Amino acid sequence: MNKPFVPAASPATWLGVMGGGQLGRMFAQAAQAMGYQVAVLEPADECPAGQVAQHLVNAAYDDAAGLDALAAQCVAVTTEFENVPADSLSRLAQRVFVAPDAHGVSVAQDRIAEKAFFVACASKSHVMPAPHKVIASYEDIDAIGDDLLPGILKTVRMGYDGKGQVRVRSRDDVRAAFDEMGQVTCLLEKMLPLAYEVSVLTARGADGESVVYPIAENVHRDGILFTTTVPGPNVSADSALKAQNAAQAIVSELGYVGVLCIEFFVLEDGTLVVNEMAPRPHNSGHYTMDACVTSQFAQQVRAMAKLPLGDVRQHSPAVMLNILGDIWFDGESVSEPAWDDVLALPGACLHLYGKDDPRRGRKMGHVTFVAPTLAEAQAQLQAACGILGIPL
Ligand code: ATP
Ligand code: MG
Repeated sequence: MNKPFVPAASPATWLGVMGGGQLGRMFAQAAQAMGYQVAVLEPADECPAGQVAQHLVNAAYDDAAGLDALAAQCVAVTTEFENVPADSLSRLAQRVFVAPDAHGVSVAQDRIAEKAFFVACASKSHVMPAPHKVIASYEDIDAIGDDLLPGILKTVRMGYDGKGQVRVRSRDDVRAAFDEMGQVTCLLEKMLPLAYEVSVLTARGADGESVVYPIAENVHRDGILFTTTVPGPNVSADSALKAQNAAQAIVSELGYVGVLCIEFFVLEDGTLVVNEMAPRPHNSGHYTMDACVTSQFAQQVRAMAKLPLGDVRQHSPAVMLNILGDIWFDGESVSEPAWDDVLALPGACLHLYGKDDPRRGRKMGHVTFVAPTLAEAQAQLQAACGILGIPL
């Protein structure tokens, strides 16, 4: 069968991105490396992506004039965060190619829609989400079955980095947590016995072709991604294949165009459970910048510009360490981490996001260690944690 003809956006033109954070910055850098010019729409006038983009549209994410200005300037627009208003993507789509589209983003930004979608495509993906129940009232709490406790109460919208979720053991805990969250609609998920966590980065082009990156194993600390290791030391060939097949089924069921990352749990008994998806490049995919032929950001450029997708081959084992603002602090004093010592380690690739205000828990950058063997990359990670004062 011949592929449908999809005219590509020439690198002489402009690409747009909704959001000015670090993902927008790294997207802009990848687009610029290919010759594109980049416009960012972001309400803050100082932001990581704004520092590198050729143009910053300073406007709220739902500002009609700002959106129209972005659409007039660019041939295609993407997003760097999942909470961009879906209506804004629809408005942009009346004038330019938008990838991912409002549908994919609106499913991913609402935990109820997301879980329902995972259940609906389980016959094709062969994975299910954690058992769950919508909690919108005290009556819903009274009706919770014992099988869902202990659990995690998560807000339906706007959760990230473990924010907007509370661990609960009893119905009384659920009531207290529901009140604490201002009685917004939540989802109660059964607490599962995790053996480890993985994510699968995938990309699908406008012509329906899709690619899947090597599976990544993720360790979280305090709800925030701490490290990503690829290949994952715990990942069996069987669960890798299952997760990659599931990811490909999910991205095609969604009719999605662009980079999508899907998080999975592997339970102690080996069962694979789908957790959530991010309609954009993802923190757990940063290793692709230094360890794969095509980075996740270059892949996003290719997908939105309707170019052929790039080679996802990983050429080096890799370990990625997130750099949080915490390491700038030593008691009361604030000082710059010893980057020179970190960069003296073989295979260290440092990425800082241009944020001049370190705060605890704030993502300031990441370091990826690439090496001929995973053991060497892990040894460099340990050395870096020693230098940076990060307990292992
Ligand atoms: P992200 O930063 O990935 O956007 P988030 O705040 O949206 O995170 P989740 O990914 O749903 O939230 O959960 C954060 C972490 O909490 C998971 O990576 C996992 O470690 C743990 N967790 C979430 N749900 C469950 C569950 N049902 N059972 C056990 N652990 C869970
Ligand atoms: Mg998550």
